Amino acid sequence: MQTHLIEFREEGLYCPQADIYIDPWKPVPKAIVTHAHSDHARWGMQYYLSHPLSEQVLRYRLGQDIHLETLPYHKKLTIHGVSISLHPAGHIPGSSQVCLSYGGERWVVSGDYKLEDDHLSTAFEPVPCHVFITESTFGMPVYRWKDQHSVFEEINAWWQQNQQMGKTSILSAYSLGKAQRIIQHVDPSIGPIYLHGAVANVSEALRQNGLPLFQASKLPSKIDKTEIVKSLIIAPPSALNSPWIQKLRPYSTGIASGWMAIRGTKRRKSADRGFVLSDHADWEGLNQAVEATGAQKIYVTHGYTASFSRWLREKGLEAQEVDTLYEGELAEISESAPDN
Ligand SMILES: [Zn+2]
Ligand SMILES: [Zn+2]
Repeated sequence: MQTHLIEFREEGLYCPQADIYIDPWKPVPKAIVTHAHSDHARWGMQYYLSHPLSEQVLRYRLGQDIHLETLPYHKKLTIHGVSISLHPAGHIPGSSQVCLSYGGERWVVSGDYKLEDDHLSTAFEPVPCHVFITESTFGMPVYRWKDQHSVFEEINAWWQQNQQMGKTSILSAYSLGKAQRIIQHVDPSIGPIYLHGAVANVSEALRQNGLPLFQASKLPSKIDKTEIVKSLIIAPPSALNSPWIQKLRPYSTGIASGWMAIRGTKRRKSADRGFVLSDHADWEGLNQAVEATGAQKIYVTHGYTASFSRWLREKGLEAQEVDTLYEGELAEISESAPDN
């Protein structure tokens, strides 16, 4: 009988041999956190283990006094005989896949991941294993991403067009990961780039952790009208529906998200433009990642879990969907920005 290195419990993913949870959604004594997005990194754990790049954001979001230890990529930590290591997931800065080895078995929990190198996060690295626990946020064949360079060209063109019409460009993006990815890659020669407070705070936390980020400043409370219409402002999704945006009129709004790939989503989301930019793997990426692990057994945690696991079974793998409280990129559109 196979040794189970992960059990799916009411509190979250649990490794009984090491007595530690991974991204639990209920308060537990010990938790490994794959990355600092709010559906994976929750409040109330007595002990947290994460990659060093997640540290300042976790402290900023969960409290400066949390008990947190960090583990760099590829370094091994042994707990009750279980060897634990973190490997780049390419999702956002610091995002990690968790590899657990015990008694000749190796299980990998991916957290969220993407395969395209975004030149901000450490690029995804496949980890050979027996059992792979994957997300499937965009686990349908309709989701195919263009390379990010062409998406940034679209954003640059939209920004320039807005300038010509005398409108401020307000681009909504999840404040951790997506926002910094945009700041790093849009063309700063077009005009000034300003950040909503939530994005500025998260960026600052990442900078404190040593991530070399392009300096973009927080939107000042008093700002010259001629300056503002030339600018690109990066804000969390919740800001588009808040009073904050009113003082920036006239403006044009955009959303950068994988969901923009689907016609109709854009219309429902009250933004003028949609840019298809995701920090999750597309259909091709999910399939490549699963294949690269060589795993025979796959658990699918969030997204299109039923259809993706069915597809994997048709390919001859042992695949099963599991219920979790991870939200995928849904959180990205409805982010409540507790850090506004
Ligand atoms: Zn995430
Ligand atoms: Zn997620």
